[in-house]
Amino acid sequence: MSADVVDEAVPPVTVIECPTRLDFSYTPGVAQSRFLRALERGEITGQRCPKCKKVYVPPRGACSMCGVATEEELVLSGKGTITTFCTTQIPSPGLVPPYVTAWIRLDGSDITSMFLIQECDPAEVRLGMRVEAVWVEEADRKADLGNISYFRPIDEPDAEYETYKDYV
Ligand SMILES: [Zn+2]
Repeated sequence: MSADVVDEAVPPVTVIECPTRLDFSYTPGVAQSRFLRALERGEITGQRCPKCKKVYVPPRGACSMCGVATEEELVLSGKGTITTFCTTQIPSPGLVPPYVTAWIRLDGSDITSMFLIQECDPAEVRLGMRVEAVWVEEADRKADLGNISYFRPIDEPDAEYETYKDYV
């Protein structure tokens, strides 16, 4: 049989397993180093632009819109609002489907961040849902975002659409 002939009796290949790995080194700047050290203490920090007042989390040391340094640092509460989410139905290492990943606008931040949503039925996740960070045990914390295991719902009314509509 030549390569361009399709054998109808043989089922098509629909899935292959292909483990991949990518090692890389990341060198954080001053602003991100401070952010990572705060995570080690169990705090989420951001920096506010002195001109447009947007709060960046993680801080980048400068406002990309205004081109000025962001030096004012804030500690956020660790609570936020789901602005977008995705329910995944296929397995992923360490995760049993269905599981939810969501873009969360942390209270006081003007940027969304993506985290897992756990401790609830995926069917209950919705835009505007209020959530909070769940941290790894203090003894296991390092200077990285892995200190936040996931976010979980909190007993608060959903956020009004107007408060997050620009982040959907
Ligand atoms: Zn700005």
